[in-house]
Amino acid sequence: MRLVSQAPMAQWYCARLEILAFTGIQVRFLVGALCKQKAIYTKKAFGFMKDFSHLIAESRRKLKENRKEFWSNNKKNHEENLKKLIDSFKIPKGWKLFVTASRFLSKREILPFENGSWSSTNLIAATEKQGFEMMIFFNKARLEFLSMPGLIPIVEHEIEHVRQAARNPKEFLDSIRNDELSRKLEAQADGQAGKISGELRKQWVLESVVYCYDLGSWKAAKKMADFFYKHLEKIHGGGYEKAMTREEYKTFLDSMKKKDIRIFINFFNR
Ligand SMILES: [Zn+2]
Repeated sequence: MRLVSQAPMAQWYCARLEILAFTGIQVRFLVGALCKQKAIYTKKAFGFMKDFSHLIAESRRKLKENRKEFWSNNKKNHEENLKKLIDSFKIPKGWKLFVTASRFLSKREILPFENGSWSSTNLIAATEKQGFEMMIFFNKARLEFLSMPGLIPIVEHEIEHVRQAARNPKEFLDSIRNDELSRKLEAQADGQAGKISGELRKQWVLESVVYCYDLGSWKAAKKMADFFYKHLEKIHGGGYEKAMTREEYKTFLDSMKKKDIRIFINFFNR
């Protein structure tokens, strides 16, 4: 069968999107939209996406005020934020997407920079008989504390994997046994995510490092910064972009030396 998703991106139609969120109780909602835009977002999302700068400004202001409340509200709104974001992306026609936000069972809390905090997109079925289904698993260990703009680079990355899997299910499956292919797909997914806005990447990095600081002081914050600056590009099969710039990392080290996390926070508010 020729998949609709093999057609050029410009001809993609927004498909009916079915999302099953496993939140203790199952929440099911349907999103339907038809559009022929070349953009990867739905029309409905466009207005929402334009609001990024406002959302980023709001998150940065909250980071400077009451961080405890900021993390707590982000956790409370996590599933709603994810649903809102997923809703704003086009899903390849003919495919069903199942989304879950959860964490692995573990004796202790898995920290955002530790193994076991990864999210993934999985191909479930891709034949006429079995249907065309995919699942995204969003890992709360690394994502739950992030605000809406902080979540966007990760959601965008996984949505690009959804497109890859729909476009070429065989290549997508082969990539889990082929490092070169995996690197190619990861670079592509990161490239797509990076196109949105550098400010969103910054927000994701800023919130992650500061959250780790609040969680486990400088030791945890340093591990998160090292993950972004040193380890990310090498983990799994590779192909990921460095998430933190040299200047940001140096500013982090400086704030650690002076024992003042506000130096790092203020750096992003220039
Ligand atoms: Zn990926």
